Amino acid sequence: MKEINRNKKTENEKAPILYLVVPCFNEEEVIEKSAGIMLKKLQSLEKQKVISKDSKVFFVNDGSKDATKEILISLVEKNREFAVLNFTTNYGHQNAIYAGMITAKDYADIVVTIDADLQQDIEALDRFIAAYQAGNDVVYGVRNDRNTDGAFKKFTATMYYRFMHLLGCKIISNSADYRLLSKKALNILAEYKESNLFLRGLIPSIGLNSDIVYFDVKEREAGSSKYTFSKMANLAIDGITSFSIVPLHLICITGFIIVALSGIMLVVSLVEWAQGKNVPGYTTLLVVMLIATGLIMLSLGIIGEYIAKIYTEVKGRPRYTIDSIIWNESTKNGKKK
Ligand code: UDP
Ligand code: MG
Repeated sequence: MKEINRNKKTENEKAPILYLVVPCFNEEEVIEKSAGIMLKKLQSLEKQKVISKDSKVFFVNDGSKDATKEILISLVEKNREFAVLNFTTNYGHQNAIYAGMITAKDYADIVVTIDADLQQDIEALDRFIAAYQAGNDVVYGVRNDRNTDGAFKKFTATMYYRFMHLLGCKIISNSADYRLLSKKALNILAEYKESNLFLRGLIPSIGLNSDIVYFDVKEREAGSSKYTFSKMANLAIDGITSFSIVPLHLICITGFIIVALSGIMLVVSLVEWAQGKNVPGYTTLLVVMLIATGLIMLSLGIIGEYIAKIYTEVKGRPRYTIDSIIWNESTKNGKKK
C-alpha cells in the first residue's frame, strides 16, 4: 500500500458518518433480527466516537414480494438510525447495493455494504473503519474460507476467479460485496455510466488507495439464499463480458487456426484424389463436421453475449427505479452534506 499524504487531523478528526447499506430481497424471516444486531453495532461504534451520531443503517428493499417492506417501514418509524429505499420492482443485488451507495453518498462520509442475512461478520466493521482512517478510500472484505459453501460453489468460485485473472480483470479473489467506500470513491464510481454493473471488477479498476479486511462467513440465520443458480450464472457472465474482450479475440484465433488446418486438409485430400487413392474417411468427416459446428455455435453464442450487452447499454435505461425513500420523522429527509 502506498504512503499517504492526507491530512488526517483536519479531514478525519470528526468521526465520519457511516451508512451501512443493506440490500434486502424477500428477507422477512431474518431482517428484524439482523436489523437489531446492526443497530447495536452502530450504536456501540457511535458511543466509542468511531463514527458520527448521524450514521444510519440504510436498507434497500429490492422489490420484495413478502412482508419485508412493511417490517422495514415499521423499523424506520421506531428508530432514527434506520432508513429505507424502496425499489419499484426487483432489480437484483448489484443494482440494489449500487443504488444504496449512490444515494447514501450525499449524506455520508463512508459507506459499507453488507448482506441482510448477516452471513458476513459485522464485528469486522471496526477494522474497515480503521483502514479508512489509515487513509484508504476502498476497503475490500475478503472471506477467510469457503467452509459454509457447498463443494460445487467452492469449485466454481475458485475457477471463476482464476479465469477472470487470466482475462486481465483486477478482481480480488474471494472478495465479497462486503466493502467500504469513501465519499471520494463513490463520487468516482458514479461517473461510470455502464448499465451492466459488476462492482467487484469495477471498483479495483478505479485505482484509489485500498486495503483488505479478512472476515468470517457464517451460515444464514434464517430463510434461504436469494441468489438462484441463474442469478449467479448471470453475474458470472456479466463479469466476463463487462471486463474483457479476450473471448472475442479467442474466437478469431480459433477461427484462423481452423481455416489454416482445413487448407492443409484440402491440399492433402486433393493430392490423394489425384493419386487415385480411395479414402473411406467417413469418420474423419463426421468428427471434423461436429467439431466445426460446435465451435461455430459457441462462437456465435459468445458474440451474441456481447451484442446483448451493447443492446442493453444502447437503450440506456435506468439501472433501477426508486419508489420511495423513507426516513425516520426526526431525521427530516436525512441531512444532505
Ligand atoms: N438480494 C437482493 N436482490 C436479489 C437477490 C438478493 O437484494 O435479487 C440480497 C439479499 O437480500 C441479501 C444479499 O443480496 O441481502 C445476498 O443474497 P443471499 O444471502 O441470498 O446470497 P448468498 O449469500 O446465498 O450468496
Ligand atoms: Mg447470504
